[in-house]
Amino acid sequence: MQTRLFTEKKLVVATHNQGKLSEIRALLVDQQIEVLSAGDIGLDEPEETENTFKGNARLKASAASRASGFVALADDSGLVVDALGGAPGIFSARWAGPNRDFSVAMQKVENKFSKIASPDRRAHFICSLSLAWPDNFDVTVEGRVDGQIVWPPRGSRGFGYDPIFIPDGCNLTFAEMEPDLKHAIDHRADAFGQLLRASFRR
Ligand code: IMP
Repeated sequence: MQTRLFTEKKLVVATHNQGKLSEIRALLVDQQIEVLSAGDIGLDEPEETENTFKGNARLKASAASRASGFVALADDSGLVVDALGGAPGIFSARWAGPNRDFSVAMQKVENKFSKIASPDRRAHFICSLSLAWPDNFDVTVEGRVDGQIVWPPRGSRGFGYDPIFIPDGCNLTFAEMEPDLKHAIDHRADAFGQLLRASFRR
């Protein structure tokens, strides 16, 4: 993997999602960096036209870095279900439809399972993070957490597909467990660990 140390004082986080922004701010709290959001500096969100998580994370980070002149960080994440050929994958957010209704998206996963009648419920979440510089250099990593899909949905914490995903070694879904536990073991924590080791002084 190509790597470069982040030595600047400011970082643009290429997201308009307040939840992602505060999670990323918390993860960078020890780095003494001024974190700006895409919204703060009026950046548009580009269309996600790549067909991999890494490709979309890189596309968003590079666009924000070129437009702002600062180093930019972007992520792309989703749920990958083995027996469904990797679906919903990079389309995880889009399965929830225009109203972002994840009960619809989770039902869609279960409907597809019932059509194929597969006993294989293995799945994983992926989070790709890309740190891009204005000269087009990027450091891009991919974090992962493995587990299985359960039905019906369980728990009211978290977001997205959390109520139907049980990580390996646990008997609670991500939506039933303490948020601190989820954030310590999930795909985002894995990706951040990799990026901090690659590009940040600790
Ligand atoms: P993104 O904003 O394009 O990265 O879309 C990611 C989508 O993947 C989200 O809208 C969620 O549906 C799903 N997703 C990613 N991470 C998680 C997670 O930690 N829990 C539940 N769903 C997730």
